[in-house]
This record gives sequence, structure tokens and C-alpha cells, in this order.
Amino acid sequence: MFSKILIANRGEIACRVAATAHRLGVQTVAVYSDADAKAKHVQVCDEAVHVGGNTPKESYLQWQRIIDAAKATGAQAIHPGYGFLSENEEFAQACADNGLVFIGPPASAISAMGLKAESKRLMEKAGVPLVPGYHGADQDEALLQREADRIGYPVLIKASAGGGGKGMRIVEKAEDFAAALQSCKREAINSFGDDNVLVEKYVQRPRHIEIQVFADTQGNVVYLFERDCSVQRRHQKVLEEAPAPGMTDTLRQQMGLAAVNAARAVGYVGAGTVEFIVEQPGGYDKPEEMKFYFMEMNTRLQVEHPVTEAITGTDLVEWQLRVAAGEPLPKRQEELRINGHAIEARINAENPDNDFLPATGTLSIYRKPASSSFAVSEVRVDDGVREGDAISPFYDSMIAKLIVHGETREQALARLDEALSQLHIVGLPGNVQFLRRAIKTESFAQARLDTALIQREAAQLFGQSAWPVEYTVAAAVAGMLHQEEASPERDPFAQRDGWRGWGVAKRFFLFAKGEAKLDATVSYLNDGSLHLSIRPHGDYKAAPLREGIVQFAPVPGSDALEVQFAERSARLSIYRNGSAVEVFAARGHDSITWIDPLSQSEGEGEGGGLAAPMPGKVVSFAVQPGDKVKKGQPLAVMEAMKMEHTIVAPRDGVVAELLFAPGDQVMDGAELLTLGSAS
Ligand code: ADP
Ligand code: ADP
Ligand code: MG
Repeated sequence: MFSKILIANRGEIACRVAATAHRLGVQTVAVYSDADAKAKHVQVCDEAVHVGGNTPKESYLQWQRIIDAAKATGAQAIHPGYGFLSENEEFAQACADNGLVFIGPPASAISAMGLKAESKRLMEKAGVPLVPGYHGADQDEALLQREADRIGYPVLIKASAGGGGKGMRIVEKAEDFAAALQSCKREAINSFGDDNVLVEKYVQRPRHIEIQVFADTQGNVVYLFERDCSVQRRHQKVLEEAPAPGMTDTLRQQMGLAAVNAARAVGYVGAGTVEFIVEQPGGYDKPEEMKFYFMEMNTRLQVEHPVTEAITGTDLVEWQLRVAAGEPLPKRQEELRINGHAIEARINAENPDNDFLPATGTLSIYRKPASSSFAVSEVRVDDGVREGDAISPFYDSMIAKLIVHGETREQALARLDEALSQLHIVGLPGNVQFLRRAIKTESFAQARLDTALIQREAAQLFGQSAWPVEYTVAAAVAGMLHQEEASPERDPFAQRDGWRGWGVAKRFFLFAKGEAKLDATVSYLNDGSLHLSIRPHGDYKAAPLREGIVQFAPVPGSDALEVQFAERSARLSIYRNGSAVEVFAARGHDSITWIDPLSQSEGEGEGGGLAAPMPGKVVSFAVQPGDKVKKGQPLAVMEAMKMEHTIVAPRDGVVAELLFAPGDQVMDGAELLTLGSAS
């Protein structure tokens, strides 16, 4: 075994590899970009070498620097992780040329599987079934069109050099082919610098089932069964599970052997994945009629490898290190068994309701369920980030992988839902709630899987809220009042707008949810209880959307609050992140914006005017025309609903004109005075 390896990657996979290396007593060297100087992977490795600027091109793809770093630190081998240099044959060759072991297949195998079209030609010779299609070298456009017509529509045009779901176009009819081909070629040349394409039949309602293979330098090749990765968005995986639901022993063996043949055909060594597209001509209920076709081989460790580790009780990174060090495979085919069921959910910084647009930001709150990391257990969370870390625009938007293992699929699903409910992420948009809804759709729960599952279940997946917004308001109010009780002197909004008299006191909060604004009025009743009433903003005569007694108490031994409002009670974790209030419950998550009366007058005060944040009566002005004022200085006092509210200067300036007199009633949004610029 090696004594020291360099990990040429970042994020969760770098941490993943380091965990196994350390368990085996192997020292680790990290490499890092400017953006990653303080990243978790740098912290967990024994040594770290800076390799360049923020973008992958300036750092993680600078393979000469990485090789130099390995030599300088005395590392004997390089683990490339996934992405970056993992499927770069030049890098694999350069490692060999520099006397370093590349922890992966030989450069020749990477090269053979690197282009989809060429690898299909190879697989055809090896007798591996292919999707009917054209994968020839001749790229004449008229020929491609004829081939598409011959295959029959719909067809899929794929960039031969493509990956990560990019460079694919579905063509429904012959007339659309030429335009789709042009657009596919443009994307391919931009993304991969190679515009060769292949054309194949677009399989209807297919499943994506892939086989994990492993080969050693002694000529042994095994398969570690399958993973079903059918739940995808934009041709990218979202949920992955093993074993594939409905898989028959016969089909498993056929696919396993086809994958082993594929690996043998290219002289494969190490971990690899053979991806198949699976047709379901008999529908979801006749898995025995499934037909599989080779799609591509990924010559590296796959993101979703933990589900295979869970069901086989193996550590695939350990296998990689052993094989790279020249040891034989730890297990023979007959010794491999499937135990239980595992599901992985990819936790991404993205906005599912906005076409899964990737997001960036800071993980201001990142709380995980009780779990292991980088090792098989009932609940496992693999990540490369800590609370407070940023998800930057330079790299992939995956925050973490949540992997659950159970005796049955049902048990794994229940564990997944519970673990997702305990994963609290605040600071950037994420897909946790989307995932919870996705696993509860009938299609997923009943394992009626295909790559269109998300589209088919769209009605239940997008634009959903966990509960009526008033419960979020109640939770936010409870959270803020609780925080205020806990630390009254530190809290900026404590006592600002409370007003007590005749035994009743009221507090007002203004919230925004999308376009809607809501007023929350808290009344302190004589018996000491709190009554909360929620109305559309500014409409004090309207019937409340919901009202009732609100109660809250901390849950001992946790940071949660037990909140009761309008006949409902729930255990909630409530976090404030700037003006956002985030509410997490077993049922789901919702967030709302608290509009700070001060910052609101600030926003509306831009341009010189100062608006009343609510309808009410002007009590007094604290300034006269001509007064110089500083930002934050009180200007006027208003009263509304028996509450006094101070309006402060949004910026430095000179008071130009008072537009009302004390005692005047004003409308919501009415300007009280004008403020000229200070100079
Ligand atoms: P597939 O390529 O079939 O989607 P995976 O599901 O294993 O296979 O996805 C791996 C993909 O993640 C890579 O192809 C790559 O585009 C992307 N990637 C690259 N670098 C990283 C990284 N450091 N961390 C996470 N993902 C990465
Ligand atoms: P990538 O390198 O981007 O992973 P793949 O060839 O593995 O490209 O295809 C990615 C996804 O596109 C598959 O998982 C599947 O959902 C879909 N796909 C690929 N080929 C076909 C096909 N012939 N018919 C239908 N869907 C396909
Ligand atoms: Mg693929």
C-alpha cells in the first residue's frame, strides 16, 4: 500500500478519498485553488499545495502543477476523484511518465471510452447491446439526416465528447433535424471543443440503470450490481438507488456480464461504471421484459458510488487504492451479495421552482441529521463543506450527498424522508423540499421509474408550499418573541414598537412572501396569553386570514421551539438569516421575509421622500425644515393601531419640507416629509 497519495480534487470527493486513505494509514496531500484556501478538503488532508486561481482551468485542471506537487511532497500516487482530470488520458499518461501511479484505469482505457461514438463502435464488436443508431466517423449532414430518418423519430443527437447531460437534442420529426443538429454542434464545440455527434433512437420512458465494475491488474473483473439513476433533471441524476427496483436475477446477470465484457474489451483496471439505457416495453409492471442498451462507460469513481457500498458492504475507495497498489480485488464475484436497499439524494444549491437554476451563497445554517460520513451506515452524509462555507460560482453546486440504507426500499425511503427533514440549510436556495416531495410521489414510492418521472409528477413537485403561509408567520413571530425573551438587550427589534396601556399591549410585524405582504398583530391579553391575528397588509378592517392564541416553548435538549397556533402544534426549528426567517418542521420547510420598519423606510426613503409604513396618525415631528440630519436619526413619530412608530432618516440629508401636521391621518405609503441631499 502507498504511504502517501495526492488527491487532485476538491469538495466532498476529496474528503471522501482522504477519509479512506487515513483509515488505511495512508497520508494525504490536498491541492487547492485560491477560492478553496480554507476549504474542508484542505483541512482534512495532512498537507496541502496551492495550485492556482479560482477557476478549474487555472487550478484543478493545471495538471503539470499537480504532478509537480505530488513529486515535491513525495506522494506515490494521485487520486483524481470525479470530474476535473479523472477522465483525462493525457493526465493519466503524464502520471505514468513521471513515475506516479494514477489511481484509475490505464490511459488507453480512458481513451477508448472517452468518446461516445468510438466507444459504441468498440462495444458493438464486443457484443454489448447498443441503442439502434448511427455512431460512424462520417459526419456529413445529409448522411446524418438520412440515418435519423432510417432510425425513426424521435431520435437523440448526442455530442460524442459530451458529458454531464450537455450536448443532447431530442428531435421529434424529420423537419426539425437540421436545426437541432446545428444547435447541438454549437453547444458541443463550446463545451467540449469537439462537434462530432452520434444519432440514436430516443428510447421512450427509459430507465437509467448502470453497473459498477471493478478490475485488478491480475485480470480479474467483477460487477458490484446495479444502480438505478432514472430520476433525473436536465439529463442529470437527482436520486440514485441500489438495487434497481423490479430487477430480475436473470437481467442483473446479463447486464453484469455485459458490463464485465465492456471492461475487458478495453483492458480496464480499477473502478468503472457502465451506463445502460433500459427500455420497458411491457410498462412498469413487467420488469422481466426490460431491454438494456449500452450508453457509455464512465472510467472513474461515480458520484453515486455510496449506494453500492451500502448494499455490498464495501469501501470502493479502499478497493481503488488496493488495486492501484497492485493488490488483487478484495472479493471474487461469488463472494459479492446484495444486502438491503440504499438510496442517495443529491443535495444541490439550486432553485427547483426556477428550472433548477444553480445557486450560490453562504451556508449560514447547515445542520445535519445524526449520520456517519464516508462510511456505510443507516444514514450517511458525504460533504465537503461546513456551516459558514460558501457555494461559489466556480464549481459544481452540489452541497452534499445524503445516503440511506435499510432492509427494504420502504424502510430506506422512510429513513430518507426523516433525514431530509432534519437537514436544515439556510442561506441559499436548495432542493431538499423538492426531494422530499419527489420521493413521496406515487411514481417514486411505487417505483414506477423512468427518466421523465419529474416531468410526469410536475404538478406535485413545483410551486408547492409546506403549509398555509399564516403558520409560517406564526412561527416567525414566535421565534422572534422567543429570541427577544432570551436576549432582550441584544435584539435590535426588542421593545421598539411595543406599546402598553389599559392592560392591552400590541405588537406589529410586517412580513413579505413573494408579492404578498402580511400584517401580524400580537395582542398581550390580561391573562398573559398572546393573541395573534394575521391580515393582508394595510387592511386592518379585513377579516383576519387566521387568528388565535399563539404559544411557544423551547424543546429541552434541542434548539427547536414547540409552537402552537390556531389549533395546530408543531416542533419547529426557526432561524433568522438577515431579514429571512426560515422555519423547519417534520412536514417541511418554509421561509418568509420580515420587513424591519427601519430598513423599510430606508428603502422607500430613497429619492428624497419618506413614507408612512402603515396607515395612521402623525404624532409629532422631531425636525424642522432646514435641519441637517444624520442617517438613523428620528424624524417623526406615527401612531397606528395604538402603537407608536418612529421614522428615522434613511440617509444623511437636509429636511426640505414637512408634508403633514401633527394629528393628521395619513394613508399607508404617504410621504411625511422630503429630505434633500446633504451637500
Ligand atoms: P455522469 O457524468 O454520468 O453524470 P456522475 O453522476 O458521476 O456521472 O457525475 C459526475 C460529474 O460531476 C462529472 O461528469 C462532472 O461533470 C461533475 N464534476 C466535476 N468536478 C466535480 C467536482 N469536483 N465535484 C462534483 N462534481 C464534479
Ligand atoms: P452524459 O455523458 O451526459 O452522462 P449519457 O449518454 O450518459 O450522457 O446520457 C445522459 C442521460 O440522457 C441518460 O441518463 C438518459 O436519461 C438520457 N439518454 C441518453 N441516451 C438516451 C436515449 N437513447 N434515449 C432516451 N434517453 C437517453
Ligand atoms: Mg452518463
